[in-house]
Order: sequence, then C-alpha cells, then structure tokens
Amino acid sequence: MMKNKGTGTKAVQGGYTPKNGEPRQIPIVQSTTFKYATGEEMGKLFDLEAPGYFYTRLQNPTNDAVANKIALMEGGTAAMLTSSGQAANLFAIFNIANAGDHIVASTSIYGGTFNLFNTTMRKMGIDFTFVDPDASEEEISAAFRPNTKALFGETIANPALTVLDIEKFAKIAHDHQVPLIIDNTFATPVNCRPFEWGADIVTHSTTKYMDGHGACVGGAIVDSGNFDWAAYPDKFPGLTQPDESYHGIVYTERFGKEGAFITKATAQLMRDLGAIQSPQHAFYLNNGLESLHVRMPRHCENGQKIAEYLSKHPKVKSVQYCGLPGDKYYGLAQKYLPNGSCGVVSFRLDGGRQACEQFMNNLKLAAIETHVADARTCCLHPASTTHRQMSDAELEAAGVFPDLIRYSCGLEDAADLIADIEQALEAVE
Ligand SMILES: *Cc1c(COP(=O)(O)O)cnc(C)c1O
Repeated sequence: MMKNKGTGTKAVQGGYTPKNGEPRQIPIVQSTTFKYATGEEMGKLFDLEAPGYFYTRLQNPTNDAVANKIALMEGGTAAMLTSSGQAANLFAIFNIANAGDHIVASTSIYGGTFNLFNTTMRKMGIDFTFVDPDASEEEISAAFRPNTKALFGETIANPALTVLDIEKFAKIAHDHQVPLIIDNTFATPVNCRPFEWGADIVTHSTTKYMDGHGACVGGAIVDSGNFDWAAYPDKFPGLTQPDESYHGIVYTERFGKEGAFITKATAQLMRDLGAIQSPQHAFYLNNGLESLHVRMPRHCENGQKIAEYLSKHPKVKSVQYCGLPGDKYYGLAQKYLPNGSCGVVSFRLDGGRQACEQFMNNLKLAAIETHVADARTCCLHPASTTHRQMSDAELEAAGVFPDLIRYSCGLEDAADLIADIEQALEAVE
C-alpha cells in the first residue's frame, strides 16, 4: 500500500501501521527478550523456521518498523538498523567478503570508512583497491580481480563533496558480477535513491540527516532485492551454500534474492558481532525521519546561499558545492540530485591551516563539532580532526586538502549564517 506513495508519505507513515486502539506513535519495545509458551516454538525461531522475536540483539519490533520505513523510502525490499554508520558499512561488506577476498572502493569516501577498510578490515584479511571515482570505466575495471566481491562508493562524499556517477559504477560492478554498495548518508533517499540508478545495497549513517538533531549515533543497511546472488554461487558461497550454524539453510533458497542479504547479515553478523541499535534510539531516529523530506530542502537552500556567498569572497580560495554551476560535479548533481544535494559546503581559505583556525575560532553561530548534517550549523577542519590519520598524499587523493573547512548548514536563517561567516572572515588576517 505504501510502496506507490511519495517519499514524504513514506517518511511520515511508512513502517508502522497501528491497528484499532493501538498507539499512534511507534511503541518503544524496551525489552531484551520475548516470552513463549513452549520451547518448541522458540526452537523454530532459532532455526529461522518461523518469524518472530526472541532476543533484541537479533531483532526488535521497534527497530524493524524503522528499518522497514527506511527500506520503503529507498525503494528496497529489506533493511536492518545497526548501532552506527561504521557498523553498517562493516556489515555490508563483511556479509559477502571473507578473508582472502577483495573490494574495490572509491578514494572519495568518509575518513572513518577509509580507516575501517584500509586498516581494520585489512587486518581481517580483506584486501582493498581504491580508485578515483572520476576515472574511466577501463581504469576502474582494471582494479577488479577474480576474488573481488563488491564495488563501493558514496553518493555525495563526506567531506570532499564529490558526486558519484552511480550508473557508471553500477555498470562496472555488474560487468564484474558483483553488487554496487552505495553509502547514501549525505543525499538521503529524499534527494537520491541509488537503487533507481542500479545500485544493489545502500548503507546509511542515520546519525546524520536522518536523525537530524544530533541525538543518536546509528546506521542502516538496505537491500534493493535486485542482485541475483544465486546466479554466481561460487562468488557468494555465504548466501548460496548451506549455513551450518543454522542447520544448513541456504539463504538465497529460503529467503530469495529479496531477503537473503539482510537475513544473513542479521542471523550471522548481528548474532556474532552484536552491533544492534537500541530501540530507544530507533524511536528517536523515527521522529527524525518523519520530517526528513521537510528538512532536506531547507538544508539545501542554506547550502546553496552560503556556497554562493563564499564563492564571491576574496579570502576564499575555492568552494566545493555541486549546486554551483562552476563546480566540477554540477553536471552529475543535475542528473542524480535534481532537487538539491545536501547542506554541507566545503571550502578552502587563502592562508592555509592558520587561516582556517582563525576563521573557525571567530564563528559565533556555527559551532566547531565533529558532526555534520545537524539542525544546528557546525563546522570542522578535517585535516586536523576526522582525517588526521591520513598522510598528505592520501588527503589530496580523497580531496580533503589541509586548508579545507567542512561547513554543515543547519536549519537557521541563511542571512544570520552569512553574517556570522562574514564577521569571522573579517577576523582572518
Ligand atoms: C558519519 C558517516 C559514517 C559513519 O557513521 P557513524 O554513524 O558516525 O558511525 C559513514 N559514512 C558517511 C558518509 C558518514 O558521513
């Protein structure tokens, strides 16, 4: 019934439909466990033979309702919530790649994701090749190996603000018989739905616009239901061969291509690694989602006005915002983000790191925070904070220059934000 509705209607009403006399708000099922009359009934749940709840580490009704809302908004068939965006990206990859496997990823990704891939997942035995997302199909294809299991990129990269050519990436992934995994955190399903362009799996840090109020760290994974794992059984044995930890069930046979990926991620990864979102957080996230389609246009409007202002300022070296006609990604943004991109503007100041520090210390409305995509405007100097573990060469490859400031426009009045920026730039010598 909700499937054919607009994203806004899905944001408000998707995922939870109360029956007569039931609470209008989504109930917070604050319980670790669920009661059954017989051990036999519970045994069936453990064997995935019957649907139902038995322990919140695996599934909880509040989380499921909110995950279903996100699945609807993205146009997917199944979704799960995770404790953070980091856990979402870890699970999305680890669900199909084992030690000895390989992943191709865009260089232009969130610093935390780069660290996860390049350091921690390498320790798990998974190899990564990073490719320039703007490179040609041939160049990106050259990074693939027989043991490559996925291609990964971000719709709008944090903080480089590059826009991904999702159709190009999807074609390359599918030519190599692997899924395209897209982190859609910055665009949100309000501004871009990567499945419509061929992506197979979408991840989110719900900590950002989806929550939107800086209240809860969280993540989500959504499956499009389109990737046919069973067509490549040797490539994806975890989904197409018996899982001995569940009495030999085969995920693709039991749950189809619409449900296999998320069921496996829940049944194996959540069971064993336990990065579940708390039901209380899912409740807050749901409140954020209900206004996402109303908030995003305002974030974008503020982003556009501030990008335009900065681009005319003599102390500003350059501005990255794909809504500016001169921006390198303007064309891709027109195609993939016709209603707006996000509220995050990156810019470089003349005067290097020192000028960045002076500018930021003088801001009065915008706060210095390790955060983006909040109702309150915030800003950050990535080179000395989120990306400080990266070498200068890695920084440049990721488009995060040492003199780059990431400014995340909140929902305040643009005129006040511009006045704040103006006086802070005046203070820069
Ligand atoms: C913040 C962020 C993450 C990590 O999410 P957390 O919720 O902080 O763990 C992943 N990807 C992108 C694009 C992000 O902005």
